[in-house]
Amino acid sequence: MTKNIAIIRGDGIGPEIMAEAISVLNRIAEKFGHTFNYTEAPMGGEAIDKFEDPLPQSSLDTCLNSDSVLLSAVGGPKWDSVPKEKRPERGLLRLRAGMELYANIRPAQLFDELRDASPLKPSIVDKGIDFVVVRELIGGAYFGEHRTEKLDGEYYAQDIMAYSEHEIERIAHVAFQTAQKRRKAVCSVDKANVLDSSKLWRKVVTKVAESYPDVTLSHMYVDNCAMQLVKDPSQFDVIVTENLFGDILSDEASMITGSIGMIPSSSLGDGTRGLYEPIHGSAPDIAGTDTANPIGMILSAAMMLRYSFDMSKEADAVEKAVDSALKAGFRTVDAMSEGKTRLGCRAMGKTICDMI
Ligand code: NAD
Repeated sequence: MTKNIAIIRGDGIGPEIMAEAISVLNRIAEKFGHTFNYTEAPMGGEAIDKFEDPLPQSSLDTCLNSDSVLLSAVGGPKWDSVPKEKRPERGLLRLRAGMELYANIRPAQLFDELRDASPLKPSIVDKGIDFVVVRELIGGAYFGEHRTEKLDGEYYAQDIMAYSEHEIERIAHVAFQTAQKRRKAVCSVDKANVLDSSKLWRKVVTKVAESYPDVTLSHMYVDNCAMQLVKDPSQFDVIVTENLFGDILSDEASMITGSIGMIPSSSLGDGTRGLYEPIHGSAPDIAGTDTANPIGMILSAAMMLRYSFDMSKEADAVEKAVDSALKAGFRTVDAMSEGKTRLGCRAMGKTICDMI
């Protein structure tokens, strides 16, 4: 098969971890007889420097014309003082909206080999952590109107959190369909005791549930969910929630599974094209030191193979190689523990390639 992949190398550690993901994809292409063509689509800080725009139209077009998009991470202190509309994160928000990627899917699974890396007590971890957060990605407070003005001598700021029925409906379908392939339980998280947008959320999710009689639906307030995630994460299968709550809960979810450098994510819309990225940022504090963990980026490439290209065998091969590298005791510094062998970013990428 031939696939055209748009590559956003990003900022900070981005180019380092992307290079390892591309090596892994090339190894897969060689082993399984595929051709992967890569086209660069500058975004974030790199694009601001080159084009004074965090997402030039040419980059968006490259992404829209590709079979899928692989992104590392964007941003860094160098661009912290640029105007709001020009910030690297705006490029990412515009890309998600431009590609109409409304569903962000983030698995939270504890690798057996990394049980020690979880900050939770062994008695909690031993019950198992294996759930998925399905986050609505292009609605809610991040996409509502933002306004700051001076009223009666003091500043006043507001951000509108709004949802329409169809926006809730389509993400609910993604959650129920995800649950059908897993343990068939959806927990919808909202703040329906206070927010109107949450009341609508709960009503629509409950209605969509009628089409999935094989899936159990429960509801939970977001503050309780934040507590339950550290008290007993084994209770969750699929969590579905709106954009802002999902942003916070999915970071919490990734933290309880150990290193932030290990977790992939996918953002999907109605077609097969998706945006695949590790959940972490551009880690400017370790950029250029060859110490970044490339596994989240490599597993994002595996998710792309599985979900956008329907290449399950190939995705399995990547995931098994990562598992083998961890079982053999290889670790980057962020996941290091006693008795393990420390590798840099490049060496970890090469080890995984060799194990495919
Ligand atoms: P971060 O995720 O970049 O870093 C948090 C901590 O985790 C740092 O100590 C970092 O060194 C470490 N870390 C992250 N990824 C790692 C990896 N692969 N291997 C080893 N260690 C890793 O978050 P931050 O420091 O809050 O943000 C840095 C920049 O990234 C900011 O400009 C922020 O806006 C941006 N950011 C971008 C995205 C994105 O592109 N999707 C997401 C989050 C943050």
